Amino acid sequence: MPSINVIPVRAFNDNYVWTLVNGSNAAVVDPGDATPVLEYLRANNLTLTAILNTHHHADHVGGNEELLRHFKVPVYGPHDERIASVTRRLREGERFTVDGISIELSVLEIPAHTRTHISFDGAGMLFCGDTLFACGCGRIFEGTPAQMHAALTKLMALPDDTRVYCGHEYTLSNIRFAKAAEPGNLLLAAWETEAAGQRERGEVTLPSTIGREKAANPFVRCDQPGVIATAGKRAGRTLGDAISVLAEIRDWKNNF
Ligand code: FE
Ligand code: ZN
Repeated sequence: MPSINVIPVRAFNDNYVWTLVNGSNAAVVDPGDATPVLEYLRANNLTLTAILNTHHHADHVGGNEELLRHFKVPVYGPHDERIASVTRRLREGERFTVDGISIELSVLEIPAHTRTHISFDGAGMLFCGDTLFACGCGRIFEGTPAQMHAALTKLMALPDDTRVYCGHEYTLSNIRFAKAAEPGNLLLAAWETEAAGQRERGEVTLPSTIGREKAANPFVRCDQPGVIATAGKRAGRTLGDAISVLAEIRDWKNNF
């Protein structure tokens, strides 16, 4: 496996522009803002070789045009005209080699947060934008709870040791919600202590792993008795399937 460093470049309040560095080349995932990316590239004498976009939201694509003024590079993204600068539109199962970085990534279509949201996985890594967060999931803006359930199920099929690079630093607030959604899950207190320490030291709480998400994230645990019970209590009725449970806890989290 090539020696790739994955660097979180911070943008806005809590976005991460995940930057894949190999030698003097760098590729960025979801550059919502070009300024911190250009600063990072300049400070480290790096040349931008590719841009990857998971979905069309401005905090993920807003820096594309400015970066393209400095570097003429391919832009990989979904079939969605709302990202005009994409040069290679990708579908489920397509693979491509990231220019200058020499790793191959595969595409999964994971609509729900937006209707064309995609993820990139390969070399033991997953870049999942705003669909899967550490101990949480994205808001369902353009899809259905069934689509979010399908998207998360698809991601959970990746190997347990896959490193999960999410679009935002939401871990601590997600863990606090998870403790309400599944109070009996003893992993959450330990993770909260760990993440709180990281935040106090100004560190990033990511990447997570697929294995950790399976064990702790209530949104991928909607078939577990503890989550079913709290969701049913909030709904005031028995919820018979994982999609209804997910719908209930997503709504709960929106108002938490
Ligand atoms: Fe976002
Ligand atoms: Zn988004």
